[in-house]
Amino acid sequence: MCLFCRISAREISADIVFQDDRITAFRDINPQAPVHILVIPNEHIPSLVDMKPEQEGIVGYMVRAATVLAEREGVAQSGFRLVINTGPNAGQSVDHIHIHLLGGRPMQWPPG
Ligand code: AMP
Repeated sequence: MCLFCRISAREISADIVFQDDRITAFRDINPQAPVHILVIPNEHIPSLVDMKPEQEGIVGYMVRAATVLAEREGVAQSGFRLVINTGPNAGQSVDHIHIHLLGGRPMQWPPG
């Protein structure tokens, strides 16, 4: 099992802030902003490139959950960023789809 599969199965401890039968959300171990939460599907999908058509609904569910978490964390009004790094040039380091929820500070554009 991959690292994030093991977190969603609670085999590895993480600061889980939300979990249901479809997704798990937990605080990033190396936060890049005051609020930095990862939202993952419980099902193992390595990256957006590997996603099958029948799996596309989970991404909308993850985005909605990330937005609710942004509200809960108090950054919905000040603003937040959702990021899905995909592949080597984007710096994807864990091969299990994850949305980064980043907020609580001003951010630059374009990203590095
Ligand atoms: P990415 O570089 O987009 O693949 O993002 C992977 C993220 O997972 C990084 O921000 C890491 O800090 C984070 N990460 C890696 N291991 C853990 C862990 N055990 N618990 C929480 N976050 C982790």
